[in-house]
Amino acid sequence: FNIYTYNERYYYRSHYESEGKWFSDEAYAVLGKAYLEEKYISQGKTSLSADDAKRVAMSYSAYPGTGDHQTGLSFDLYLSGWSGGKFAETDEYKWLCENAHKFGFIFRYPKGKENITGYSFEPYHLRFVGQYHAAIIYESGLSLEEYIAKYIN
Ligand code: ZN
Repeated sequence: FNIYTYNERYYYRSHYESEGKWFSDEAYAVLGKAYLEEKYISQGKTSLSADDAKRVAMSYSAYPGTGDHQTGLSFDLYLSGWSGGKFAETDEYKWLCENAHKFGFIFRYPKGKENITGYSFEPYHLRFVGQYHAAIIYESGLSLEEYIAKYIN
């Protein structure tokens, strides 16, 4: 997590020469273009504050101690050459979309639920919730957060 935060904070140093970008795409997505313009770019500041860098890193990396993986119920799938977001382009992902719930798994960070889960879309990250819950989550299209709020609380 510290490495991700560092990389966000000093993105300019490692990317400006090759890409001419001051901040990562994630920084623009999380902090917003207007905020970056006002707080950094207009003042010639090329490094994010520690707090801003942490906010950006938290959109794709769990703060230590809070990770879904630490429950022991989650895992990431990788296919050679199709890791990360590219996994969504595979036949295996399509199969999982139709079948994972039958085995008790859900996509923990689905597309379109970023503002609810607090994480970017992660097509490769699955979580075991059991067949009963997975079936309802699959049918409803809810995120785990929405499901818990609606059915568990
Ligand atoms: Zn994961």
